[in-house]
Amino acid sequence: GKDYVGFATLLCQVRRKAVKKGFEFTLMVVGESGLGKSTLINSLFLTDLYKDRTLYDAQERINKTVAITKKSVEVVEKGVKLRLNIVDTPGFGDALDNTNSWKPVVDYIDQQFEQYRQAEICLNRKNVQDNRVHCCLYFISPSGHGLRLIDVEFMKALHKKVNIVPVLAKADCLTRSETHYMKTRILDEIDRHEIKIYDFPECDSDDDELLRKHNSVLKKSIPFAVIGSNTTVESNGRKVRARIYPWGVVEVENPAHCDFVHLRSMLVRTHMQDLKDMTEDTLYENYRTQILCQNQE
Ligand code: GDP
Ligand code: MG
Repeated sequence: GKDYVGFATLLCQVRRKAVKKGFEFTLMVVGESGLGKSTLINSLFLTDLYKDRTLYDAQERINKTVAITKKSVEVVEKGVKLRLNIVDTPGFGDALDNTNSWKPVVDYIDQQFEQYRQAEICLNRKNVQDNRVHCCLYFISPSGHGLRLIDVEFMKALHKKVNIVPVLAKADCLTRSETHYMKTRILDEIDRHEIKIYDFPECDSDDDELLRKHNSVLKKSIPFAVIGSNTTVESNGRKVRARIYPWGVVEVENPAHCDFVHLRSMLVRTHMQDLKDMTEDTLYENYRTQILCQNQE
């Protein structure tokens, strides 16, 4: 079995300097409870397979209904150290009245920007702690007819502050044609509401054919239809993550069954550095400029 996360290819993505220091990445998950956020994170980063990995609460903050929690895990693969922070938002969308339920999430992201900005201003810039959120997986329910009001409101409130990657949750609940319908519908609505989701960088003319193909497959998969599971089964002598139903087995890592591998590939193998660069160069810069303008008024 290929039971490693696979971020060692970061070596190709990052500067030497960064590799020596280790690599840090912060991923946020948002969506109503029960959509499989925790299960997907476990499936993506094998957190339950690595018993020796230390998982601890770095921060907890209660804010009315939406609690924001942060967990960190340190993984070393092939000499590359990755410190992964997972920001979870249990309770999002669970209230009877979800008006402004995106507010605590916006506040959290702004606070991380502000902390970084303050640290940057200080004289000792060597050990600036960077808790900025690099990517937000937004979970869309498979049981609706596309986006709901709360989905639109959330994405509109957040799209200038964080790289949003929409995922169609629990895709095993949908037939192939339903998945296709939902994906088309979601993309249409994202477009109609002028929501800006994370956009893959254009390929350079000197990128090789393989990378171009990879990028185009990823792009076509959005919103990624995902399935998570904490159960493994034997298939062809290999242990694979799967969901077992009376009528059959759904394999999480089988691209014929869902887009899980595409999502993981994007997050850890090919686009982690770009997500960080976008955060630093565009989203954080927006924030900084906005604060500067405010201060001048
Ligand atoms: P969270 O509240 O969003 O963190 O959701 P959980 O990960 O705790 O999952 C809620 C329930 O949904 C659990 O019973 C999971 O076993 C189940 N679940 C998780 N992922 C999937 C999936 O991809 N498909 C299906 N059908 N069920 C799932
Ligand atoms: Mg959860």
